[in-house]
Amino acid sequence: QSFETLGLSKEIVGAIQKLGFENPTPIQQQAIPVLLEEDQDVVALAQTGTGKTAAFGLPLIDLIDDSDRTTQALVLAPTRELCLQITNDFHNFSKAVKSLNIVAVYGGSSIVEQIRSIKKGAQIIVATPGRLMDLLSRKVINLAEIRFVVLDEADEMLNMGFKDDIDHILSHTSDEKNVWLFSATMPREVRDIANNYMNSPLELTV
Ligand code: AMP
Repeated sequence: QSFETLGLSKEIVGAIQKLGFENPTPIQQQAIPVLLEEDQDVVALAQTGTGKTAAFGLPLIDLIDDSDRTTQALVLAPTRELCLQITNDFHNFSKAVKSLNIVAVYGGSSIVEQIRSIKKGAQIIVATPGRLMDLLSRKVINLAEIRFVVLDEADEMLNMGFKDDIDHILSHTSDEKNVWLFSATMPREVRDIANNYMNSPLELTV
């Protein structure tokens, strides 16, 4: 399998080849064609190091409308480090392809700066749950037009006690959205999220 056969745009395929990715990893082979079909919720069991960030990031970037400045996608991740890593990867995937405002929001850093970035029109927000809750209560972020929600390391987020925050955040998103859930393990609590917020999700395992 090669990146050309997964359904990604030529521009994105060119960009990832420049990054030195020669062939898609197993999770990328499974997830990318499915995620590119809009209206598909997905639960993917994948560990760190499997290429999961590109598995959701490449189709997400392909699907975002860069002429629309509203917030179209939300990625939730458990830690500041992961937030920054995802944001950095997304910049690398997209910079040669389209002009996107991708904003990372996480605790322990100036909220004023983050609010300023969001107000410029963040098409993709990559957030930790706690800081996102803060921004939602300040009415800085509007999730009504969100088309995609990615839950990365969902099991970690639940282990860290973010269950109530995730429930609150998901309840503020439109019913039209798709949810892409990535997790290294599939405990009961992760299943509950899938059951409560996803429509007949396709399950992928590598
Ligand atoms: P992740 O599982 O998303 O943390 O990715 C692990 C590492 O693999 C990162 O350093 C990626 O840049 C790299 N990577 C992801 N996909 C590929 C690929 N198809 N070919 C080579 N390296 C990749």
